[in-house]
Amino acid sequence: MPDAPLKQAQPTDRSPRPSACPGLWRIVAARDGGICRIKLAGGLLLAEQAEAVALAAERYAGGVIEATNRANLQIRGIGADHAGLIEHLLAAGLGPRDAAGDDVRNLMLSPLAGLDAGMLYDTQPLAGQILHLLETTPRLHQLSAKFAVQLDGGEHLAMLEHPHDLWLSAIRQGAQTWLCFGLAGCPAHGPALGMVPAEQGLALVRAVLEGFLDLATPEQARMRQLLADYPVARFLQGLSVRFSDAPAGWRRVAAHSPWLGVLAQHQGTALGVAPPLGRLSPAMLRALAAIARQWGDGSLRLTPWQSVIIPSLAPHQADQAVQALAAQGMLCATDHPLAQVTACTGASGCAKGLADTKADAVTLAAQLRLGTPGAVHLSACPRSCAAAHVAPATLLARSPGRYDLYLRDARVPGFGRLRASDLTPEEAGAMLDLPTEHFDD
Ligand code: SF4
Repeated sequence: MPDAPLKQAQPTDRSPRPSACPGLWRIVAARDGGICRIKLAGGLLLAEQAEAVALAAERYAGGVIEATNRANLQIRGIGADHAGLIEHLLAAGLGPRDAAGDDVRNLMLSPLAGLDAGMLYDTQPLAGQILHLLETTPRLHQLSAKFAVQLDGGEHLAMLEHPHDLWLSAIRQGAQTWLCFGLAGCPAHGPALGMVPAEQGLALVRAVLEGFLDLATPEQARMRQLLADYPVARFLQGLSVRFSDAPAGWRRVAAHSPWLGVLAQHQGTALGVAPPLGRLSPAMLRALAAIARQWGDGSLRLTPWQSVIIPSLAPHQADQAVQALAAQGMLCATDHPLAQVTACTGASGCAKGLADTKADAVTLAAQLRLGTPGAVHLSACPRSCAAAHVAPATLLARSPGRYDLYLRDARVPGFGRLRASDLTPEEAGAMLDLPTEHFDD
């Protein structure tokens, strides 16, 4: 069947909460050219879609592809042919043909949803229903492009610390699966405000989103902003769905599963790899696609750790895949020096950047022996848009090559407690060259 025609090259912002963030239909200018964000359904990227993204990055941009911390992809350095790029991506099935439906597709799953060895509930069917609801319900297009939902199936591999406007987390009671839920927070920190049978998950999501839109002003883009002015108990009372109390004191316990290297599925194994500092070349993406097609199930899963998982490999195939991907410069094990650091785009690509965080991260990583992936985050301005949760250590730029060092502290909001100011990457490296338990509070 031929593709439907492109409705328009740029979206009209129908939302009363317009966004400046990139989307598939909204290519945003940056210092290094345009940025297009491709929102992947539950992080899923088919091999042929990966190849389409690689080709798009070469044909319409400068060849830089980024894995984001919401398990999406971005193409950077886009030139003048926006309509050509958008049509190329739509033809690969990488977004809805209605621009208004793209922004709101913010649903995070475990990267191993449906496959994880520890999962209590396969979230994929419900996730498909939620995404369909978001994409096809015009009223929900009034949500901000940042409004986000998490659906957690109790998997071992799960990011539990990214704040979401609504989160749901599976528990089992006898033969029944329930979904505990919370607002403006994350499963790791709770509290759970109630629970519904899993079959009622879609009704709960619809009720919460509609309840938000009924009450929020245009200036209130996120649930935390609404709940700062409106009591959460009243919000819950007004929901059009019935729910039960969550078990007293319930907390989602993290399994702290690594996301690099060989990962356990309930059948077979998966391989987690990461592009250095979140940046993929077209060659890396093609190598991943080729392995997924040859040995896996033909799909890739993006993760909130800016990494990629190839599911459903046999163990000996995982070993061969590591060799092939390491040759492309991918990080395949947690002890790789660059796995310790994350960095935002920085001054080389972002006009807000005060320092070249990508280059400084390479300098820093060579000095560190922490052995903890993602232990140090470098941010070139206070927006910290490349880290949705607080890293154990954050280097916040104050001028080119100079940073303030913060150590995570649950008692201190923001990046944590200020440990030292005006450090070079080398000076920060000397201070941080300790196991993370010495500086993570
Ligand atoms: S954190 Fe600041 S400098 Fe870094 S990419 Fe985001 S806006 Fe740009």
